[in-house]
Amino acid sequence: MEFEQLRALRRELHRNAEPAFAEIGTAARIERAIAGLPVAVRTGKEAHDLSAVVDYPAPETLDRWEAAAVAAGTAAERARYFRENGTALVVDLAGNRPGPVWGLRVDVDALPMRESADPDHFPAAQGFAATNGAMHACGHDANATIGVGLLHRLADHDFAGSLRVLFQPAEEGVRGAQTMIDAGVADGIDRMLAIHLAGGMPAGTVIGSFTGGMATRKLKVNFDGRASHAAGAPEAGRNALLAASMSALAIMAVPRFSSADTRLNVGTLVAGDGVNIVPSSAVMTCEARATDDTVVDELVDRIRSIVAGTAAAQGVDADIAVMGQSATLAPDDELIDRVVAAATAQPSVADVIRTQTLAGSDDANLLIRHVQARGGQGAYVMVGASSPGPHHSETFDIDEEAIAIGIDTLEALIRSS
Ligand SMILES: [Zn+2]
Ligand SMILES: [Zn+2]
Repeated sequence: MEFEQLRALRRELHRNAEPAFAEIGTAARIERAIAGLPVAVRTGKEAHDLSAVVDYPAPETLDRWEAAAVAAGTAAERARYFRENGTALVVDLAGNRPGPVWGLRVDVDALPMRESADPDHFPAAQGFAATNGAMHACGHDANATIGVGLLHRLADHDFAGSLRVLFQPAEEGVRGAQTMIDAGVADGIDRMLAIHLAGGMPAGTVIGSFTGGMATRKLKVNFDGRASHAAGAPEAGRNALLAASMSALAIMAVPRFSSADTRLNVGTLVAGDGVNIVPSSAVMTCEARATDDTVVDELVDRIRSIVAGTAAAQGVDADIAVMGQSATLAPDDELIDRVVAAATAQPSVADVIRTQTLAGSDDANLLIRHVQARGGQGAYVMVGASSPGPHHSETFDIDEEAIAIGIDTLEALIRSS
């Protein structure tokens, strides 16, 4: 696949951006882009287990994205397939001699936000900005393209071992990786890699591995009370809005920890029925993050206690669901050395940084940990992409050279081992 074709693929994915678990046209496009390669492709239940997902998109939402995918040129049968069976793809490619099983996670989802239509915004000026209410504002269009490009590049089988590319849905919200682990597709991997573009760094920069980061838990709390007339019988009500509000304040008042850097956020709170009714329901989402995995569990325990206590105080029921999660990352030195050597050998790479800590959370860390826990190694490679705007902003954009740098580096890494 020539660079022009990869760039065209990236732009097509960009124009037809789709949010978490609705990557219907994206999955079909990736499937087409690897058709004819000597690979084994797993989709549906064989690629991910969606049974434990909280807040999977509603049927009406999926209807809309399915229709949009078909309107954008996806074959109706494939759009229906990915809508019904989920959007992950797992692609295995065998080398021609014994060696390690490489895993590569690339994420494919976009964010539910509008893309800039300003002519100064390159995708808008070039006519490939998304106009459908989702936007690739984190570069996953490019990450997915790197996965496709690498499979084409290594299709001559001239490498040791094998490569398994995991095209993961729903990285945003850290929801998709666990579904792939649950389907068993991370089992048997010896060297687990993730790759992600870094908009804040210049193109030509490669980071051997992201390290540290924050463990996170995304929680959804349902408060279930009882409505009553706010003047006629207020004492008969059970106020879910108050329980949720008291929880929100108390969660933000959980102490800092001396042993780790922590974050808490109550992100949304939707409650109530009407101005003259004691509120019978409330739904709150919140997240906890910490640079230590046991501390994030402690934060979640405290949130559980707060919710139970405030719910009891108002006489309402409450339940907590974990919507998304990830762990901190401790990459392996030996594998980082290999990445650094591969990146350094690329003429297009001007600057190689061995490791860097970022204050983000990515559920690729769960895949890497899964492999490490079974004796394997892991690293999370980052490729500078010179974005004019920050990640998750309407002016995010990438230098498309970063796609070639990502593929070149990974190809050199896998061929050299
Ligand atoms: Zn992101
Ligand atoms: Zn991202």
